[in-house]
Amino acid sequence: MRMGSVLIIGAGGVGNVVAHKCAQVADVFSKITLASRNIEKCIKIQKDVKENTNRVIDVAELDADVVLQTIDLIKKVKPDVVINVALPYQDLSIMDACLETGVHYIDTANYEPIDVPKFEYKWQWEYNGRFKEKGIMALLGCGFDPGVTNAFCAFAQKKLYDEIKSIDIVDCNAGQHGHAFATNFNPEINIREITQNGKYWEKGKWIETKPLEISVDFDYPEAGVKKSYLLFHEELESLVKHIKGLERIRFWMTFSENYLTHLRVLQNIGITRIDEIEFDGKKIVPLKFLKALLPDPGSLGENYTGKTVIGCVFDGVKDSKRKKIFIYNVCDHAECYKEVKSQAVSYTAGVPPMIGAMLIIKGIWRGNGVFNVEQLDPEPFMDMLNKHGLPWKQIDFRNSILEK
Ligand code: NDP
Repeated sequence: MRMGSVLIIGAGGVGNVVAHKCAQVADVFSKITLASRNIEKCIKIQKDVKENTNRVIDVAELDADVVLQTIDLIKKVKPDVVINVALPYQDLSIMDACLETGVHYIDTANYEPIDVPKFEYKWQWEYNGRFKEKGIMALLGCGFDPGVTNAFCAFAQKKLYDEIKSIDIVDCNAGQHGHAFATNFNPEINIREITQNGKYWEKGKWIETKPLEISVDFDYPEAGVKKSYLLFHEELESLVKHIKGLERIRFWMTFSENYLTHLRVLQNIGITRIDEIEFDGKKIVPLKFLKALLPDPGSLGENYTGKTVIGCVFDGVKDSKRKKIFIYNVCDHAECYKEVKSQAVSYTAGVPPMIGAMLIIKGIWRGNGVFNVEQLDPEPFMDMLNKHGLPWKQIDFRNSILEK
């Protein structure tokens, strides 16, 4: 088999994991290049990957907002696939560069205009015709959620149900990082996501809630009962389109009281705003300033303990019988740090795009156009999750708390 070359863009918490995981699979990824805005961060990851896997990856400085720079780099590196784990703001410019050079594209978060938090796929879905024409594939949202959760849904649809009536995606981080306040992935994106209105889909329409207005107690395997808040999350938009017969889909995430209290104070004083303000004769965006003060998510791993539990609760019918099933993964922060110097949130987001790239390089996942993960065969992907650090479990679901 011809071996593959991958270009990873973004040297943050997730980029570190993608680089390590690609390096672990030498028979597929013979050449790995990590590019980011700040070359020092790439060099640090290059050193860690060498220590952990004895492989030398290439590094490059890149401002991915500048399409021509990305085109030049792609022409030089000649990757089979580009994995974009920079920020959602760069999605379209990196897709443009992939179109120009005819290279497959993967990301883990949908495009975001800088000034409006939207969490919508429409901008990226508009590229479908152009990717199709070019004969290449764009795989959107191939992290954990979105990503693995979409594959769980596709698997339930393909193998477990005649009809899925409802899906509840539950995301619990029961870990402790020892800081008074920190976000587990990019603070800007994380805070934008949590402070927007909640939204879920029921009986053919979207129902909007105030931010964090609805919560339930959910009993997570290995983590116990945790208060979980209803949020809008981008995979809801694509799953509503691709899972047939669905009557309701919701997304829940846990937050500690401490986290929410900090967030409330930060919001009340206006430091989570994303519009520009004038300060000392300069224009600054308060949320970007806050990001500069908060711990780098990539640095949280060292003392992180506890686990993440993320999965999907399905309710539906198989052979005329009602069936409730929970498919989930448990990931341990300290184990992740031991393996790749990262906490579990970056780890769970970084393993899936490596697997997506591997399946594309091997020709197992192929298609021309723009795809969400649930549109592809979930089985080879879910096999690989078991082999590459994110094993999943399927259990009959008895917890009825979500029915309230
Ligand atoms: P970080 O902020 O830690 O890393 C982002 C990296 O991208 C940084 O190295 C940053 O550079 C780099 N970057 C930013 N702008 C540019 C640019 N213009 N050109 C080149 N590089 C750039 O974020 P995370 O690693 O935590 O998250 C990465 C992505 O993964 C985000 O889009 C996030 O939403 C997504 N994610 C997805 C999850 C999922 O399950 N689907 C879960 C967690 C995250 P610099 O160091 O200079 O700032």
